[in-house]
Amino acid sequence: MKEVLAGLGIAETGSAASGDFIASHNPATGEELGRVRLAGEADYERILATAAEMFERWRLVPAPQRGEIVRQIGDELRRAKDDLGKLVSLETGKILAEGKGEVQEMIDVADFASGLSRQLYGLSMHSERPGHRMYEQWHPLGVVGVISAFNFPVAVWSWNALIAMVCGDTVVWKPSLKTPLCAIAVQNICDRVLERYGLNGVLNLVIGKDDVVGERLIRDRRVPLISATGSTRMGRHVSQVVAERLGRTLLELGGNNGVIVMDDADPDLVVRAVLFGAVGTAGQRCTSIRRLFLHKSIAPKITEKLIAAYRQVRIGDPLDSGILMGPLIDGAAVDNMMRGLATIQEQGGKILTGGKRLQGCFVEPTLVQAHPGMAMLKEELFAPVLYLIEFDQLEQAIAWHNDVPQGLSSAIFTTNLVSAETFLSARGSDCGIANVNIGTSGAEIGGAFGGEKDTGGGRESGSDSWKAYMRRQTVTVNWSGELPLAQGIKFDV
Ligand code: NAD
Repeated sequence: MKEVLAGLGIAETGSAASGDFIASHNPATGEELGRVRLAGEADYERILATAAEMFERWRLVPAPQRGEIVRQIGDELRRAKDDLGKLVSLETGKILAEGKGEVQEMIDVADFASGLSRQLYGLSMHSERPGHRMYEQWHPLGVVGVISAFNFPVAVWSWNALIAMVCGDTVVWKPSLKTPLCAIAVQNICDRVLERYGLNGVLNLVIGKDDVVGERLIRDRRVPLISATGSTRMGRHVSQVVAERLGRTLLELGGNNGVIVMDDADPDLVVRAVLFGAVGTAGQRCTSIRRLFLHKSIAPKITEKLIAAYRQVRIGDPLDSGILMGPLIDGAAVDNMMRGLATIQEQGGKILTGGKRLQGCFVEPTLVQAHPGMAMLKEELFAPVLYLIEFDQLEQAIAWHNDVPQGLSSAIFTTNLVSAETFLSARGSDCGIANVNIGTSGAEIGGAFGGEKDTGGGRESGSDSWKAYMRRQTVTVNWSGELPLAQGIKFDV
């Protein structure tokens, strides 16, 4: 552990801050990984002032040069991948392959952002007036506040920060207090690159309590955009506070993702995809599969295969290469899962396998036979609990699938073109992400990531998500020497 931290430049944590200490724990062992000093009000002010001051400089650096610096951050991340991946596993409890996968995602985002830095295109339009030119250009926005959740302690930051960086923004990151060491490690890696150019202050980290630091950040008028990832409850609050000052939000909130399995689907493909999607990261992904709609003719076969597969899931030390499922993040998450399972049973759900609390923060992955009227189906239970629901008709399955407050990711398994296209059509899935013959989790960075309804409506990472981090300016240049007015209006004396 000490070597991992030393490799990531973490010796004495948070020494520049002035608040209380918090301890970060390994959820797999309960061992204390390190102690971090929290930021107080004065620390927040200092960090925000640095970010605001640096924005004045950074926004004038040509975008391709900004991209080159992000490219170098990608290179540093490549060098740190093993250590950082291990730290992600140690602090979150996700298995090592997923910990390293998160770092790979950051590297991919760095590559993407670096290329993007030469493609921040605006459109040009034909003016209705002779001798006039119209076009739009994109300018940096300012200081971007990034609030991140515990379950993706580094990758989601990179979707925001590295894209915002090439857009010319500076960033203030407020990570989850459950994963502060990952945040410090990432900040150290980035600082190594920024230092070469005297640009420390482009990326900033403020680790503090929600009522001290979080609330200050979302209320701060110097921060035109707050990008927040976390629960819908948090997002609703952040959205209201930022809207009140007419700031912008980019919200990536809870999911409740469903998969529809048609009678013509390949059962082996379904079981493998569902296992990764529902049990991976111990069900603690925003995109975890939570609801599985099975066509009734294929339901017995898939159910039987899933029960067998669930019973073989190796649970244990996330750093052990044979393990598929680590612990939940903390004791409160285990209690929450147990409470959820009790409610599920009260509502008529039947546990088919799993459902038990094991040692420490470990639990059994759980399959539940559910019926469509259960109220719990509409909630995001952030744990490895999967509901199985049988259906007759695709239309019925789509209606049940969409009948939840959340709208993040969705999938259908079918070999029938009409069923697939129906699911993808305007009367199909109402989610931000819709897949065919792959599960709901494990999105690639090239697409825009995000969801509808209570998931918050934000889009991050690929496609044209960069536009959220810039301000659009419409420009009209008159080189005609005359002053014709739009819409043919005459206004001469
Ligand atoms: P959480 O809502 O408890 O916390 C998320 C972040 O919000 C933390 O950094 C927290 O400190 C901060 N926060 C809370 N109140 C705040 C306030 N008043 N002001 C400023 N910041 C505040 O979520 P969590 O338990 O860390 O993460 C799990 C949740 O995140 C799940 O609902 C999951 O679906 C969601 N999530 C969504 C996505 C996505 O992309 N849609 C990705 C990852 C996680």
